[in-house]
Amino acid sequence: MASLAAEFAGELVTPEEDETYEQARRVWNGMVNERPAVVAYCTGVADVRAAVAFAREEDLRLTVRAGGHGVAGNAVEDGALVADISAMDEVRVDPDERTVRVGGGARWADVDRETQQFGLAAPGGVVSDTGVAGLTLGGGMGHLRRKYGLSCDNLRSADVVTADGELVVAGDERNPDLFWALRGGGGNFGVVTSFEFDCHPVGPEVETVFVWYPGGAAREVFASFREYARDAPRAVSALPFYAWVPELDEFPDESWGDPAVALLACYAGDRDEGAEVMEPLREFADPLVDLSGRMPYVELQSMLDEDYPKGRYYYWKSLYLDELSDEVITKVLAHAEDCPSKLTTIDVWQLGGAVADPDEGPDATAFPNRDAPYLLNYEANWDDPRETTANVEWARESVEEVRDSDAVRGQYVNFPGMGEDAARVAYGDSYDRLAEAKATYDPENVFRGHQNVTPSEEDREQGG
Ligand SMILES: Cc1cc2nc3c(=O)[nH]c(=O)nc-3n(C[C@H](O)[C@H](O)[C@H](O)COP(=O)(O)OP(=O)(O)OC[C@H]3O[C@@H](n4cnc5c(N)ncnc54)[C@H](O)[C@@H]3O)c2cc1C
Repeated sequence: MASLAAEFAGELVTPEEDETYEQARRVWNGMVNERPAVVAYCTGVADVRAAVAFAREEDLRLTVRAGGHGVAGNAVEDGALVADISAMDEVRVDPDERTVRVGGGARWADVDRETQQFGLAAPGGVVSDTGVAGLTLGGGMGHLRRKYGLSCDNLRSADVVTADGELVVAGDERNPDLFWALRGGGGNFGVVTSFEFDCHPVGPEVETVFVWYPGGAAREVFASFREYARDAPRAVSALPFYAWVPELDEFPDESWGDPAVALLACYAGDRDEGAEVMEPLREFADPLVDLSGRMPYVELQSMLDEDYPKGRYYYWKSLYLDELSDEVITKVLAHAEDCPSKLTTIDVWQLGGAVADPDEGPDATAFPNRDAPYLLNYEANWDDPRETTANVEWARESVEEVRDSDAVRGQYVNFPGMGEDAARVAYGDSYDRLAEAKATYDPENVFRGHQNVTPSEEDREQGG
């Protein structure tokens, strides 16, 4: 440790420092209970390089933590050196070029705040507390996805410390194979210390729909949504989800805890036009509560933050749908009946638009399954650790049952359960090319975060 300390500017936290260590070893998901050997709080690229070199010299497992919101908790591991880059969160907007340079440890709240000063946005996720790094490397779906694509589609370049400790730039011109792999291939290729994104004119206010219907109308709402989605304009990105009415003042107390189906949508464009185009989403049944309207983009981005407190228990697992069939809707409704926690949601992410049809073409990035029109995510959320087995089993079994339906495939890298499935399930057709990039940039498989793409040919032949 003395040799690392000599090279390292940031703080190093080891198990001996009881209280600091207890905080340092934790991530957002309370399910994750790992005891790393050291948490290295990096202050810049030099620290990242020192951490990578030290972990390799000492034969320590190396993990990377940015926002700490990886649902599977890969950012920490027993006995590992955790390179925590959360302090590397500087954001610098170039309003003329419409780009933003973002430190590898930033959260989306940091980015939205700065870009909105200039009426711009870089497409992120729907919770502002989430890290830019993990979300972008796995793809990145947010309120602007159908208009402007995934977060990774808006990446222009990235600075990466690779397994040999070198700092390289990945972009269209430099290391294009690495650049391809970073956009959807997860944290398999190095530590991204800085991202450069394209921005788009958005806000300051955006037209949104946030309507809650009673659970009894769920089948009708999902079916009507399916019709609406067939030719919805790209500017609309919608997310219907099954849920239970939260105990909040916005909802009548007598409905608290009742089954419900909600629909959250954003219009990336003219607000009046948005209100008109999204009107039908508010008329699928008699709403329980309709919170739709105009709101500042930063407010929309952070609206769900408080629903996902740090330390709660979470298990999220997903698959892509080629259609939102009656069969799938029936299964979702049956799973909802058996759901052990009222904090849980079952989410249908509307894809298509720019996600299916990015400017550079569908194979320009490693992100697979682009042409699927929906992503279905079982988001099991609960408070009592004694209910862990019931909730995890519920989500796993539900996903397995949907997997038995026609026209379903894959898994979203960022909603992977606890990462128990073979990496090929998540990376699909991109797996082999990712493994080639892995063999070039990390031949000894130092970076195993997210679902691990291994460099070995033998492993590739055996199916990943
Ligand atoms: C509350 C919540 C809301 C979410 N909402 C969305 C959403 O709207 N859309 C969406 O697409 N996803 C969403 N996700 C999923 C999210 O994309 C992933 O959980 C993502 O991994 C979070 O990134 P992070 O940096 O916070 O995670 P971390 O736990 O810090 O990192 C996760 C993994 O990413 C890799 N990694 C992180 N930083 C780096 C880096 N700098 N260089 C290389 N590898 C790195 C590592 O392998 C690490 O283990 C959400 C997750 C949560 C918890």
